Parts: sequence; C-alpha cells; structure tokens
Amino acid sequence: MSENLKIAIQKKGRLNNKSMQLLKSCGIEIENFQDRLFVTASNFNLDVLFLRDDDIPEYVQENVAHIGIVGENEMLEKGLDVEPVKKLGFGKCSLMLGIPEKDELNNINELENKTIATSYPRILKNYLAENKINAKVIELSGSVEIAPSLGVADYICDLVSSGNTLKLNKLKKSFNILDSQAVLIKSKRFDNNPNLKRTFEKLLLRIESSLKARKSKYIMMNVPKSSLEQIIEIIPSLKSPTVLPLSNEGLVAIHAVINEDKFWEINEDLKKAGASGILSMPIENIIL
Ligand code: ATP
Ligand code: ZN
Repeated sequence: MSENLKIAIQKKGRLNNKSMQLLKSCGIEIENFQDRLFVTASNFNLDVLFLRDDDIPEYVQENVAHIGIVGENEMLEKGLDVEPVKKLGFGKCSLMLGIPEKDELNNINELENKTIATSYPRILKNYLAENKINAKVIELSGSVEIAPSLGVADYICDLVSSGNTLKLNKLKKSFNILDSQAVLIKSKRFDNNPNLKRTFEKLLLRIESSLKARKSKYIMMNVPKSSLEQIIEIIPSLKSPTVLPLSNEGLVAIHAVINEDKFWEINEDLKKAGASGILSMPIENIIL
C-alpha cells in the first residue's frame, strides 16, 4: 500500500473547526477524532495529525507532515522553509500595534526608542527594520495586553479581531502590522514521491473547488419573458444563465451561479425588472 499524505491541523483552538470543515467539504471523512493525535481518513489517502499551531510549520518543514493548515502570522513568525500554497479565507485577524487609550500615535516614527511587548518578535522586528525604526522588542509568550499596565512595555503588538481584549485592558488599536488568515502550507520535500504528489494535487483541486463554491450562490427566479434580456444583463453569471420554460407561458425560470457578495447588490434591480420568487442556495462544490 502506498504512503498516505499527512496533513497537520490545529488540535484545539480557533482554526480547528474550520480546518475540519474544509476537509469535510472536500468529501473527506474523518471519524472518531476526538482526543486523538492521529487519524486516518476512511475514504481518501490522508492521515490527519492534530498539533499545536505553533508546531505545525516545523513539522511541515521536516516533512513529518507533508502539508498543514496554519495562520499566516504563525508561518511568518516561525520563518521556516515551507511553501505557502493557498489562502483559505478563514481565521482572519490582524497583527496590530496596541497603545494605551490616552496615548496618540500619529506617525510610525514615534515608535523610536519605545518598548513594545509581543509574541511575534520576528514579524515586529522586520516591520521596524523596514521602517528604519529603533525600538526595543520584548518577547512574551502570552497575556501581552497586560504589559503596558505592568510598566513592562509602552505598547504591544498582538493579534486583534474585534479589539475587545484591547478595550478590557484600556488599550486601543493603532497601526496594522499584518493581515493574516489561515493558509495551506506544504513541505518542499515530497515532490519526488509521485504517489504523494498525486494525492496532494487531488486534494488541492478539491480544496480549490470548495473555496470557489463557498464564495458562490446558486440563484433561481421566475421572470416575465418580456424582461428576460434586461434580467440577464443584471446577473453577473459565471457562464450564461440557464433559462427554463414554465407552464405559465408568459414566464420563464432563470438559474445562475453568482458571487455571494453580488446577491444583495442585484436583488433590488432584479425585483424592479419583474423577477419574482428569487431563491438563493449554497453550493457545495464547483468543478470548473
Ligand atoms: P495552540 O494551543 O494551538 O497553540 P493558540 O492559543 O496559539 O493555540 P488560537 O488562539 O487558537 O491559538 O489561534 C490560532 C490562530 O487563529 C492564530 O494564530 C491566528 O492565525 C488565528 N486567529 C484568528 N482570529 C484570531 C484572534 N482574534 N486572536 C488570535 N488569533 C486569531
Ligand atoms: Zn499557538
């Protein structure tokens, strides 16, 4: 039997659920994974390794896991030799500078000679160097947001989404250092194994089709024949929309696939042009 492709995903935390969902949307069945470190899919040549997100880049660099799902923040911070393959559209957050509510920071140069606490020293130091700023970076492994009130640092640099944690610590958002999301990474060492390479390419195709589907909606509506052309103009369809006859001869049904964001945008125009019974449905996969 040929070797299974190994994927590393976060065991517990913000990326676990969405990573599992992504595999599921690719038709991969993984059962009884609770509290396990290693599970084999029942219908695909894939083993799933559940790890701390901090360890995933290293496992992938060493080819222990052939691929992995990790935040771009973690991938860049580790600075290891792995290949980013695809942004996955979840786990979105920003690495930001947080400053005390009472402070004002208008220009990045005002960071000169300040002390900044962070769990992301590599990314922060690169950022400071790019901006030619001399600041002291203090590395903390957690609870970075209490550093200013303890007098350990002037500012912090940490992951933020809503900003609520900052607010609780009387801090506010300042400059954005990095926008991050979950990314599929790949080891550079298994391309010479044709079986693994083939399995990876098969999985990647499924991931891409699932990501495309997630951004799309299948819409259906009934329209008067007289406004058919006008309505087709409004619909930004992937290809040409499907037009079907209805028992009421004055009407036809239109089916189309559109970008999710467009649905609300065109809704009003469709109604004005006489469309009725407008339905939108999620799509599981799109194979182009
Ligand atoms: P582990 O036990 O695996 O080390 P962790 O505590 O380091 O977990 P989580 O808090 O679960 O990690 O975050 C995992 C990743 O989720 C982050 O590295 C980041 O890419 C992403 N993420 C998305 N939103 C946020 C957020 N608001 N705060 C922190 N991380 C976020
Ligand atoms: Zn972690």
